[in-house]
Amino acid sequence: MQQPIIGVTASLYVTATGLTAGSARFCAASDYIEAVNRAGGCPVVLPYTTSSDVVDRHLDIIDGLVLTGGGDIDPYLYGEEPIPSLGEVSPGRDDYEINLVLAALNRGLPILGICRGIQVVNVALGGTLYQDLSGLAGILQHYQNSRRQVAGHKVRIKRDSLLYRTIGLEDLRTNSFHHQAVKAVAPGLKISAQTSDGTVEVIESEAKALLAVQWHPESMIRSQPIMLELFRWLVNTAAKRLGVR
Ligand code: MN
Repeated sequence: MQQPIIGVTASLYVTATGLTAGSARFCAASDYIEAVNRAGGCPVVLPYTTSSDVVDRHLDIIDGLVLTGGGDIDPYLYGEEPIPSLGEVSPGRDDYEINLVLAALNRGLPILGICRGIQVVNVALGGTLYQDLSGLAGILQHYQNSRRQVAGHKVRIKRDSLLYRTIGLEDLRTNSFHHQAVKAVAPGLKISAQTSDGTVEVIESEAKALLAVQWHPESMIRSQPIMLELFRWLVNTAAKRLGVR
């Protein structure tokens, strides 16, 4: 079987100090690349541009998609004005990733959304977000002070879900590095895991081959090997689709 090519969306970073200070670079954390590779996929990093042709040509290359973590989504995209605690937004990245999600779903490509990725998927399909969780009453710690591989809060997984069939557990401790979260779930998607404070941690659609999680499984594949199952789901779904092309 041919190794599926898995697109991994890039972030834009501007170097702060040194000889390259001020230069902007597209990059993706190596944890994503390693997780895709360990799951049997061939990772490629996808930089964003404002050219609409690029979305379609990127999709010609890839068999599956990982939407990576990053900054906040512009609340304008779900009909809200910015609140004071909104973080930095990246309009170019929002546009590219939303177009990428919609076109990928049209083609039937499987998608694994991670952190910002669950938010992109939800907004692309017509859902809304909490711009900032931190002010909500009874909220758990969703932006942990511990390192990336360390488990924080627990998520409760619904048994009747693609997520449960992928992970095989009802309770899963995850890391957590987000201050935004899904508010109104987009039409056609369902919630498959939440924390005890009610925060939506996973949305999915089996028919669309879409699984999107609010934590960072790529940073936990050594500390909790079960996290690799999410990447195996993506790669195996992409491989099955390749087989029937
Ligand atoms: Mn969380």
